[in-house]
Amino acid sequence: MADRRPLLMIPGPIEIDPRVAEEAAGPPPGHLAPAFLEAFGRSLELMRTVWGAGPDAQPFVIAGSGTLAMESAATNLTDPGDRAVVVNTGYFSDRLATMLRVRGADVVEVRAAPGRVPPVEAVEGALAESGSELLFVTHVDTSTGVRTDAEALAAAAARHGALSVFDGVCATGAERFEMARIGADVYLTASQKAIGLPAGLALLVASPAALKRRRTRSSPPPMVLDWLEWLPIMRAYEERRPSYFSTPATNLVRALARSLADLAEEGMESVYGRHERAAAGMRAAWEALALEPVPESPASAAWTLSAVRYPAGVDASLVAAIASRGVVVAGGLHPEIRAEYFRVGHMGYATRTPEMLERTVLVIGEALRESGWDVEPQAALAALEAAI
Ligand SMILES: *Cc1c(COP(=O)(O)O)cnc(C)c1O
Repeated sequence: MADRRPLLMIPGPIEIDPRVAEEAAGPPPGHLAPAFLEAFGRSLELMRTVWGAGPDAQPFVIAGSGTLAMESAATNLTDPGDRAVVVNTGYFSDRLATMLRVRGADVVEVRAAPGRVPPVEAVEGALAESGSELLFVTHVDTSTGVRTDAEALAAAAARHGALSVFDGVCATGAERFEMARIGADVYLTASQKAIGLPAGLALLVASPAALKRRRTRSSPPPMVLDWLEWLPIMRAYEERRPSYFSTPATNLVRALARSLADLAEEGMESVYGRHERAAAGMRAAWEALALEPVPESPASAAWTLSAVRYPAGVDASLVAAIASRGVVVAGGLHPEIRAEYFRVGHMGYATRTPEMLERTVLVIGEALRESGWDVEPQAALAALEAAI
């Protein structure tokens, strides 16, 4: 019998390429070893490719989580009293707004109902009215499965002389984002989502304008988050020179070099296309199972995950019924609709391994049938296969 460990289909951590897992395993490399300098330096170079960033943008790789990357952006760019506009699409936008308030910033939120995105005109209005020099956006909202229009929002920020910061934790390395072309200033993520590593790295790229803003703030962030502390370290690694400020997660950086090289070699257009097709396939399967997605418009539905409403007569016990069949999906997360839907991740390695998507759809169909929702799992499988 094939591998019977549970299949991890949540929106991060995700199933990863065994070749990447192999790099993360094994005896820890020293942080000054020549092979490690090469892996770190190469990772920084490859981040520019995967992020679509220009040669003057600065990548940072720091041990930590996505929340740490968010905190890094929030504290390097704001002084207490600074104004910031937050596009709020759900759970992680709430967190960002709270973080900025804890920092002492004056936060204006532009909210949307669960499953919707605020119109760009509303965001422009908030920028104009508040005179804010910062716009914070969640690229893909992991609590609702909606994707914001990064290009339009970055352009709106630029029109109002504001820097744009995107939380790409559930998007980077899967959803289209060309940092230089759209003029975004910060794009951040964490290793356990679409980048396809175990958890443990905070990844962020900052534009020259973002770095300049850090230099003009008068209240430095906590030292371990300070871009100005990390800058000489990142430069040293990129030049393959040994340096030390705080020990990097050496095994994970080695895995990062592998994963980013794979993405760059495949080419980002192909990576985007693969995720777009996987999402279309999963959407076709939900339709065949007569399930309703949380995102109101297919145009703003993420490629990286599906948020799907429980049908009539089915409740959150469905998630356990799916798990008992060997597939792990996630429950609801948005505070207003938490008990009404579940979430399925489809990013990274699973989009290169159609059997994983197929098993997921089949098992969800079977669990629904068992819960009394009269549907045909094989029809959902056929719909998925036809679309991918
Ligand atoms: C997962 C996620 C985070 C938080 O990342 P952690 O590594 O759990 O701290 C932040 N923002 C978004 C959009 C996410 O999906």
